Amino acid sequence: IPINPLNSVLTMHSHIDRILWNEDQISRRVSELAAEIATDFRRCSPSPVVVGVATGAFLFLADLVRKLDFSIAVDLVRVESYGSGTQSNGSPTISFDLKLDINGRHVILVEDILDTGHTLSRVIHHLKSKGASSVSVCTFLDKPARRKVLVSPVGEGKFYRGFECPDYFVVGYGMDFAELYRNLPYIGVLKPERYK
Ligand code: 5GP
Ligand code: MG
Ligand code: MG
Repeated sequence: IPINPLNSVLTMHSHIDRILWNEDQISRRVSELAAEIATDFRRCSPSPVVVGVATGAFLFLADLVRKLDFSIAVDLVRVESYGSGTQSNGSPTISFDLKLDINGRHVILVEDILDTGHTLSRVIHHLKSKGASSVSVCTFLDKPARRKVLVSPVGEGKFYRGFECPDYFVVGYGMDFAELYRNLPYIGVLKPERYK
């Protein structure tokens, strides 16, 4: 199959206004984050537990952990927040809990996007109450302009972020609107007429 130089343009989903980060940019940034995390946690004992927030973090989690060249455990939590289509509400609940016992373990929490902060602050509180000895936060995107509650690591935990995101509703690379677009390999801005 011949390689078409217009490939990314031609394959851009018709519901996407523009691409903010393409596959290459995402992959390079994930490698940098993995290198930072490796520097901080390589010598950590017991090995850290990397916890992804389902469903949105599944691609970032999969890419990130494959680039961590040391011993880690992986687990998931699921959080439901019943907000409107493009915004979470203030009281998310844990609807699917960890399989692993994280008591006394260093946890690295992996999330797709940090927006108001309600979701991550809820999960951080939960991990702390289960005895995590530290909680680090690794969010691929961060929209600081929309923060309502402070999200801070616990104990010796660190904060990592891939990119600062402008205040648009974005989809792709795990992120959805009404459960669609998660499989897009890039991150783009959804055309407003799609959610209005
Ligand atoms: P927060 O609780 O910080 O307001 O929002 C966190 C969750 O809201 C994210 O995990 C994500 O599921 C959703 N979210 C926030 N901003 C966006 C966005 O721009 N696009 C998508 N698809 N989801 C978002
Ligand atoms: Mg999420
Ligand atoms: Mg969502």
